Amino acid sequence: VTAPGSFWCEQAWLPEGPAASVLVSCDAAGVITEVAAGRASPPPGAVRLRGLVTPGFANAHSHAFHRALRGRSHGQRGSFWTWRRQMYDLAGRLDPDSYRRLARAVYAEMTLAGFTAVGEFHYLHHPPGAGSYRPASAMTDALRSAAGDAGIRLTVIDTCYLTGGIGQPLSGEQRRFSDGSAERWAERVAAALAAGGDTAAGGTAAGIHSVRAVPPDAIAAVAGFAADHRLPLHVHLSEQQAENDACRASYGCTPTQLLERHGALGERTTVVHATHLEPADIATLGRCRGSGCFCPTTERDLADGIGPARQLADAGVRLCLGSDQHAVIDPLAELRALEMDERLASGERGRFTVAELLAAATTQGHVALGSTDAGRIVPGARCDLVAISTGTVRTAGAAVEQLPLVASAADVRDVVVGGRAVVEDGRHLLVADPAADLAAAIDAVAG
Ligand SMILES: [Zn+2]
Repeated sequence: VTAPGSFWCEQAWLPEGPAASVLVSCDAAGVITEVAAGRASPPPGAVRLRGLVTPGFANAHSHAFHRALRGRSHGQRGSFWTWRRQMYDLAGRLDPDSYRRLARAVYAEMTLAGFTAVGEFHYLHHPPGAGSYRPASAMTDALRSAAGDAGIRLTVIDTCYLTGGIGQPLSGEQRRFSDGSAERWAERVAAALAAGGDTAAGGTAAGIHSVRAVPPDAIAAVAGFAADHRLPLHVHLSEQQAENDACRASYGCTPTQLLERHGALGERTTVVHATHLEPADIATLGRCRGSGCFCPTTERDLADGIGPARQLADAGVRLCLGSDQHAVIDPLAELRALEMDERLASGERGRFTVAELLAAATTQGHVALGSTDAGRIVPGARCDLVAISTGTVRTAGAAVEQLPLVASAADVRDVVVGGRAVVEDGRHLLVADPAADLAAAIDAVAG
């Protein structure tokens, strides 16, 4: 599959909104060279994209292996914490080979849904028990290989994970997540960067699992490393009230305040979930001008709560979206949920404009992953295009400017990543049968 050079879109969502008959040309490096609206018919050689073409979606928060719990965690009551028990059991069964096969199928599902980039919040660094893989990067390599096979750009968010809870030792399954100290985490990430962890096919970011799993001095060390290397920094924040309570009891402040005190909040920081915030936290996050990644289908699935999305956006936080534990992989479902959850909580419709929702799902997600040249259909941007059908039973009759509020991943017909067609008419061009691959990969690791 090679970059054919030009795509003619029936409708395309340009920075100023939807436009008809748009020719998008790109160079061999997959960068858009020209965008021309009003070209009545496709010129010879141009690939025709039917329906509405949006910029590629960014999945700013993923744990690929959690996909193996979809449809297997609803058999009992419980909470986030009982779900986590099941997730740890699964984590304990993964090795580089099963991780690669599972991630490859999950990333294929993502590209079929219109995601062109993913940030993998990765902490499965070491073998169960003790020791390390040879090479030590075996689990990260598995992710990069999987993403390459599936045709998606990957940012590995290499995550520091040191404690089982505030002041608590790691449990048996958590031990493989830990490098032992922030210094050893930094040595491993520095080695990965030196080995070429930042290329056109993907990048590297730093991760702090949460204030539960990383003590304050280590938070400062990881934040310092990220700043020195100009890496994006991602951190789970206040997903559960219990995290806030434990943080207050140990440190006398909220998780947001703890992160700020230790230098972890800035323009390149993405706080993930940000569900249970106090007014002062919202103001702090806004002042720091970073990103806030909402994962609405996960937050719903895990009974987390509804975070203050509109208030964060108004305070100055750039919102973006992730499918996190992959109970659903559908960028349109996530962007719609951002608005619909606000409606339920506020009693008002139209809390976000469609353009704001699309920006969260595209441009702002790519920015959170360290790419300022993606997520818009303009010259100079990466040629990531997603064609959404306007003629399915779900989308027929919808006004094109409201299509993102009704379409779903099932309506995504074509996906182009960096000028290369990866999905054509609903079929993945690089992975022959993603559903069969998912079934086999999950069967191999499921309990
Ligand atoms: Zn997460």
